[in-house]
Amino acid sequence: MTRPNIWQLKPYSSARDEYQGIAASVFLDANENPYNNPNNRYPDPMQWELKKNLSKLKGVAPEHIFLGNGSDEAIDLVFRAFCEPRVDNVVAIEPTYGMYLVAAEINDVEYRKVLLDEHFQFTAEKMLEAADEHTKAMFLCTPNNPTGNDLNRKEIVKLLNAFDGLVIVDEAYNDFSEEPSFLTRLDEFPNLVVLQTFSKAWGCAAIRLGMAFASPDIIGIFNKIKYPYNVNQLTQQQAMEMLHRHYEKQRWVEVLKEERNRLESEFAALHCVQQVFPSNANFFLVRVTNAVHIYNYLVGEGIIVRNRHAVTLCGNCLRITVGTRAENEALLEALRKYGK
Ligand SMILES: *Cc1c(COP(=O)(O)O)cnc(C)c1O
Repeated sequence: MTRPNIWQLKPYSSARDEYQGIAASVFLDANENPYNNPNNRYPDPMQWELKKNLSKLKGVAPEHIFLGNGSDEAIDLVFRAFCEPRVDNVVAIEPTYGMYLVAAEINDVEYRKVLLDEHFQFTAEKMLEAADEHTKAMFLCTPNNPTGNDLNRKEIVKLLNAFDGLVIVDEAYNDFSEEPSFLTRLDEFPNLVVLQTFSKAWGCAAIRLGMAFASPDIIGIFNKIKYPYNVNQLTQQQAMEMLHRHYEKQRWVEVLKEERNRLESEFAALHCVQQVFPSNANFFLVRVTNAVHIYNYLVGEGIIVRNRHAVTLCGNCLRITVGTRAENEALLEALRKYGK
């Protein structure tokens, strides 16, 4: 599965990698400045402390965890590690998160789209039909962005069983869904890569921290090719602090789910709304009378939503992120006023 150059690669060995001995107090190995403590020292390249804490919360051993500069780093590493440019390809549902395609294009890897049905669902069969002997990975996103729905679980399992390459299950919005995570099934499927992030439910988009969970073999390859200090010290510390406050995250999730459900039913009653798509995320998709016009009207009111009109199957659709009660009310107020 791995590209031959990556398989044979001898990774860069940093000073912090090489020293793993007994406790020391004098560090003269990494050309660091001895002043300006604590920011003068290189961070732990493998983020072991953070992974140990995460491991307890997720019930997944540290060897199964990769941490990166957002999930976007893990998405890019899939291509760099496994896909030979201009030779290999990947298959993904369509529409979905735009970064899979961008990462494919940057890495010069063919990206094959498999259209979702009118309920925004997929089948393993259609994904497999799009694949050939050069297909290295398949991308699923559940709940899916921008459609907001959970993908059919049975079909995901079917694909994991039937496909020889990697199946990436992006769970960026899993906290907002009632479906269980695929994390518990890592041992069952050596080809499964689960992506999660601190950017959504954890409220930490600014610190750029993404997680990939997979077999130690796959994680080992990611670790081999990542930048040595890909997660900085401030991010590691802030994440550790957030893990201690995971009850607060859970409260946010409950509030946002309630607000989402309220907002969705309020939207259904608006004149300019034609269809509200049920969501299992912290956003929802809505089909309106004229997406471009309403988007621009909202901009004029100082409210920014995401115009998805140009996206496949999403004609005249806006994607609405659930905000605070006050923000959501401002949006509803503006839309009630629209066209009056
Ligand atoms: C927001 C989002 C992410 C998170 O990306 P980060 O780089 O971790 O901020 C990942 N996947 C999907 C589908 C998303 O919508």
